[in-house]
Amino acid sequence: MSFKDECGVFGIFGHPEAANLTYLGLYALQHRGQESAGIASADGEKLRISRAMGQVAEAFDESSLQTLPGHIAVGHTRYSTAGESKLENAQPFLIDCAHGQIAVAHNGNLVNALELRDELVRNGSIFQTSSDTEVILHLYARSRAASVEEALTESIAQVRGAYSLVLLTRNRLIAARDPHGFRPLALGRLGDAWIVCSETCALDLIGAQYVRDVEPGELLVISDGGLRSIKPFPPQPLSHCVFEHVYFSRPDSYVFGRSVNEVRTDLGRILAREAPAGADVVVPIPDSGVCAAIGYAEEAGLPMKMGLIRNHYIGRTFIQPQQSIRHFNVRVKLNPVRSILEGKRVILLDDSIVRGTTSRKIVKMVKAAGAREVHLRISCPPTISPCFYGVDTPSRAELIAATHTIDEIRKYVEADSLAYLSIDGLRQAVGSEQKSYCTSCYTGVYPVAFPRNEQAYLQLALKNVD
Ligand code: SF4
Repeated sequence: MSFKDECGVFGIFGHPEAANLTYLGLYALQHRGQESAGIASADGEKLRISRAMGQVAEAFDESSLQTLPGHIAVGHTRYSTAGESKLENAQPFLIDCAHGQIAVAHNGNLVNALELRDELVRNGSIFQTSSDTEVILHLYARSRAASVEEALTESIAQVRGAYSLVLLTRNRLIAARDPHGFRPLALGRLGDAWIVCSETCALDLIGAQYVRDVEPGELLVISDGGLRSIKPFPPQPLSHCVFEHVYFSRPDSYVFGRSVNEVRTDLGRILAREAPAGADVVVPIPDSGVCAAIGYAEEAGLPMKMGLIRNHYIGRTFIQPQQSIRHFNVRVKLNPVRSILEGKRVILLDDSIVRGTTSRKIVKMVKAAGAREVHLRISCPPTISPCFYGVDTPSRAELIAATHTIDEIRKYVEADSLAYLSIDGLRQAVGSEQKSYCTSCYTGVYPVAFPRNEQAYLQLALKNVD
């Protein structure tokens, strides 16, 4: 629950209310990014764009949506994994170049963006943003290829890392997914309209049907002539982000061909077999721990009860009261239910421990509400390494599991016992295609090389917060 999300992308072709449906699609993808939202639309002649800081509901109103006519649109909801949190970095990005207008929305992180950017700057490019996505646009604008698709293929061929892209030209919707398939991207159908989106929950919201995933390494070009699939890149070993299943994606989505709810419930079931504890009740840390807690409770034959209640109405920022209230930051989000916890041996289920500070506060809060014992169970292996593929993780030094043993973490969080799911258990839960998953944040083994100087990379590329 302590990881930040990444980004959500949505695109639609062939619907008279393209911008309105994109707005709704972004609502369904809001969990993937809350810093900014944007939509670009095209009517066959011209592209228009509207972007703003904040959540989708704050970023758009009726009048801003009316400025986005046309039958094609792309949208983006952002959490900044690369680049600062400010409006100029809000996506989609829209440029006009020799190939015409193009807008892009990106989910993922490019590992060679800095190198490419340095080279482009040396050759005279002037960057408007600190986002890695802009690199793709500069490469595209400089391409001398004859067609939009060739120019795009040429530019995408130069980037490495994670990208699920939706792009808009005056008469085309284009979707592209990196050859490793790090981030999800689904293809759907609503009547005659085509949709591409990060998660299938966005299709459900607008009443569209899921058709298939955009395949890793595939470029889908959707125009009045229909849908065309191009596979211009040599195949690479697959590296679907396993953390999409553990935490990021909504449980009502299908991601990498599997129900997130099913996988997450299986994580809990397997964890119950691997790490049982004498207890009276299983309590999830809401919302992200709920599916795994259901699985754990079913397997252990214990009741699962909502012993912690989440306040869903916290804005992005709240004003810290003057006088200090104990554990205010956690308590404003979660409150214990004393009647469930009092006198009980509690299995507390969460999906991760990052720095350990939040887990420690929650364990204390549950004990203060009368729990006799607290057995903390984590539905994934210890997070020991940062992500370079589009997920905002702290540096290695800040990850408690990178520098402490499990027993040291247990003592720090003041739990009576602590256990994580094993890496084998995680692989078992995601199913038969387990070799196709990235598990780098649990293993420290990275499928796509990133700049060696991690510190410099994190400072320069991931976060410019000064
Ligand atoms: S390092 Fe972790 S969070 Fe990043 S892509 Fe791999 S599994 Fe996902």
